[in-house]
Amino acid sequence: MEELRKMILEQGQGIGADIVKVDIFLNHRIDTKLLFAMGKVWADEFRDEKPDLVLTVEASGIAMAVAAAHALGDLPVVFAKKSNTAVLNNETVQAEVYSFTHKTQNTIRIERRYLPEGSRVLIIDDFLADGQAAHGLLTLCEKQKATVVGIGVAVEKGFQPGGKALRDAGIHLKSLAIVDRIEDGKIILRPDDD
Ligand code: 5GP
Repeated sequence: MEELRKMILEQGQGIGADIVKVDIFLNHRIDTKLLFAMGKVWADEFRDEKPDLVLTVEASGIAMAVAAAHALGDLPVVFAKKSNTAVLNNETVQAEVYSFTHKTQNTIRIERRYLPEGSRVLIIDDFLADGQAAHGLLTLCEKQKATVVGIGVAVEKGFQPGGKALRDAGIHLKSLAIVDRIEDGKIILRPDDD
């Protein structure tokens, strides 16, 4: 996606060999024009798959999931929670996710009734790196017997294995930009094949 690629190149920062910092427009301060444009690209990609809901994990996936869900005709967004609260009832489905950025193991959970059996689910997230978050969300859907119609991510880190594993598994994946590598703090993107 051209607008996203441009912002990554102009405003993104590479940290060390493997961290892409784009929080100035994507996941701390949010550029809302870009956000809703991203939502439209995912909606065009997945509309024919007729999703019933958009699924993500808190916190940074939520804005993007809302943009996609809105563009798909105001679908509901369901986000997996990383902490247990008294508000959640006991009817939760859970999965384990290792966080690449925080280097911690998290349990993610959703009240079962928000991810009904048979529902068609579009997964949206900000980053795809090792694929742990995506895997956790796929596990929740599998446990609930929901069908994942596809996965949309804003930034795929092409030098980590998550994207390849999902494609090899036959999952319809739409990454809006793919980072090939980081060189001296500079982010190098893979040429766009759209
Ligand atoms: P994965 O589970 O695919 O290894 O990593 C995906 C999650 O880790 C995303 O939800 C994102 O929050 C975080 N993440 C992974 N790599 C990066 C990165 O380079 N920059 C940022 N900002 N977040 C990342």
